[in-house]
Amino acid sequence: MQKNDIYEIEIEDMSDDGAGIGHVDGMAVFVKDTAPGDTAEIKIIKVKKSYAFGRLMQLIKPSEDRVEAPCEVARQCGGCTLQHVNYNAQLRLKRNKVENCLKRIGGIENASELCEEVLGMEDNPFRFRNKMQFPIGKDRDGNAVLGFYAQRTHSIIPIEDCMTGHGVNKYIIDVVKDYINKNKISVYDEEKGTGLLRHLITRIGFTTGELMVALVINGDDVPEKAQLVKGLEEAVQKYEEEACAADGEKKTLYLTSVMLNINKENTNRIIGFESKRIFGRDFIYDYIGDVRFRISVESFFQVNPYQTGRLYGKALEYAGLTGEETVWDMYCGIGTISLFLSKKAKKVYGVEIVPQAIEDARGNAELNQITNTDFFVGKAEDVVTDIYSSGGDGSHADVVVVDPPRKGCDGKLLDTLISMKPERIVYVSCDPATLARDIKILSEEGGYTLNKYSVCDMFSHSGHVETVALLSRILDKSGDI
Ligand code: SAH
Repeated sequence: MQKNDIYEIEIEDMSDDGAGIGHVDGMAVFVKDTAPGDTAEIKIIKVKKSYAFGRLMQLIKPSEDRVEAPCEVARQCGGCTLQHVNYNAQLRLKRNKVENCLKRIGGIENASELCEEVLGMEDNPFRFRNKMQFPIGKDRDGNAVLGFYAQRTHSIIPIEDCMTGHGVNKYIIDVVKDYINKNKISVYDEEKGTGLLRHLITRIGFTTGELMVALVINGDDVPEKAQLVKGLEEAVQKYEEEACAADGEKKTLYLTSVMLNINKENTNRIIGFESKRIFGRDFIYDYIGDVRFRISVESFFQVNPYQTGRLYGKALEYAGLTGEETVWDMYCGIGTISLFLSKKAKKVYGVEIVPQAIEDARGNAELNQITNTDFFVGKAEDVVTDIYSSGGDGSHADVVVVDPPRKGCDGKLLDTLISMKPERIVYVSCDPATLARDIKILSEEGGYTLNKYSVCDMFSHSGHVETVALLSRILDKSGDI
């Protein structure tokens, strides 16, 4: 195979970033803008040792799963790589991906029987994100633009609205553009490090209706703050009127917090370390299930509140708590899962590497008057291994929940879990390949079996997939039950 060769191929699968995958003489070829089920004419653009990249030249026979992407900039923006595939097919692809990893990497032959359910979005697979971040720039004529960075670049693709975000964003974007143009406010230039406005951030409590708007600035203040706040209040009102008129339902949002976040560093990190309030409170509240969370500009909070509740509900079900259990929540973030489980457990310990997240976890426990949790800052593999070796409080667990980043659990943590011998391990995973790898280790070295799992769609229209899996211990190494 060589560059510029032309082939006709069938697209069989999809990669993590949404490219279609087909084969030429047994070699995998990744082709953007195709969908599984397509027959396509492609041109090879790059050949690597064991795979290649192709460009779509012509769709010979489109897949039955194809739909018109509803968003005009879906192809350029890179956020929604699967909008051109209908939602049911997206869910099928995600389920297949998990099954394949469990079979291929985890060696679990009956992986398809163990899949209990696929938790797809129930009503509308759009408008689910509770947080949006729009970079701010100017076009050639000097007018403000807000949008997204094009894939792998820092050039802004202007947008009017994003269909994965809340409907109010469209009105807020208009207000911010107007405010910049009217007051001739400068925008940040990454190369020179000059200019004031960097990003617009919106966060919404979907249960409480509380809205936070933040401007990230390369400076200490912005002009005409009252004008900005008034504009934002009008944006909320306009959204409410138009959205209610459109579907007859009453929609209520409250402009609860307007913030400035200061980031003067020349960095890819969007949010800086200091924030100032210009209107309302410093934070908003929201709920997952009946646990209340306090969310500030900097806080981490799961972005799809509808599905987070369902995913953690599944984790709670798999944990099988009766009120007597001691539970460890590894990689606990702001303690979402810990707090969710605490009402049904005797004691929940959480561990997380980011100190600020643990502060939030403790604050949220207090906010909910939860007194049976304890949180530790540090690497799970170090903190838990030390506690286990010391034999003190927390050295025994009936149930362990792990929710690691994409690279999966650290080997040392898995070793400690194997020694600790919890009855059940509930594994929440954002990467099925590392999930499968870790399950293999836990089963070969720890005698755990995968009982069942569910696939959850937290990021519709993207290639991401979340899985929650239940493992239980049958035999330990000495053959004891
Ligand atoms: N369960 C959390 C989110 C988990 S995301 C929630 O529901 O909100 C994974 C988390 O693991 C991140 O918060 C990350 O900061 C943390 N992390 C990464 N490496 C870690 C390690 N070695 N030990 C403990 N936490 C770690």
